[in-house]
Amino acid sequence: MATSSRPRVPVIAGNWKMHKTRAETREFFAAFLPLVARTSECEIVVAPAFTALADAVAATKDSPVMIAGQDLHWEPQGAFTGEVSAGMLVETGCRAVLIGHSERREHFGETDEMVARKLRAALEAGLRPIVCVGETLGEREGNRTEEILERQFHGAVGALTARDFSPILLAYEPVWAIGTGRTATPELAAEAHGFLRTLVATRFGREVAAATRILYGGSVKPGNIRGLMAQEQIDGALVGGASLEAASFAAIVNFREG
Ligand code: PEP
Repeated sequence: MATSSRPRVPVIAGNWKMHKTRAETREFFAAFLPLVARTSECEIVVAPAFTALADAVAATKDSPVMIAGQDLHWEPQGAFTGEVSAGMLVETGCRAVLIGHSERREHFGETDEMVARKLRAALEAGLRPIVCVGETLGEREGNRTEEILERQFHGAVGALTARDFSPILLAYEPVWAIGTGRTATPELAAEAHGFLRTLVATRFGREVAAATRILYGGSVKPGNIRGLMAQEQIDGALVGGASLEAASFAAIVNFREG
């Protein structure tokens, strides 16, 4: 594999949403791990459904794959039917968690304030948060992309210190590109990433901004990953549909070989 001149180690993360049983999870990793056995210089994260987390952790035990929750509640325990805490994710073997995915915001009424509370709980538990931000089609067409990104960014991380912020991965996911087959062009994604990096620099300093990894999410496939990763501002991908199949997710992880 060619030595990378990238300023930051890339991260390729899969979000399985409400897909895959426990058996399907084990089958996936049996097929996937050999395909990425020689992959280096790229961190791999997979976020299965809660019910399959323990199987995913067991299947990836001696591998570089990091298992993530898709969501969490901000309280450590309590009368919150259906919810899962940061401590429960850690006990199951998770090392990361998605926070503020647009499907949580859209279908479950998740607000910036809830995202901020979840983020604090994740950081306190030692989980690496992947914080998702992104504008809808109407917001983009109304020239409100930067306003929305700024609001979501400050709403989520505004109260943190630079030290708290440093483990966080940001994911720029334009809502109009998620699950639609419509990807942002690499240039358009890089522009949004550049804007997010400016927000990080203004709030936490240039050094933190230079080290922050910002993933792109929205219909990433084996056929478009190389173009996206050719942009210096793009440090990886958050992949939904194409992460469900071992060969296509491995092709994305192995983007340098494509
Ligand atoms: C996602 O779920 O975060 C996502 C980007 O999905 P897809 O890759 O299917 O658009």
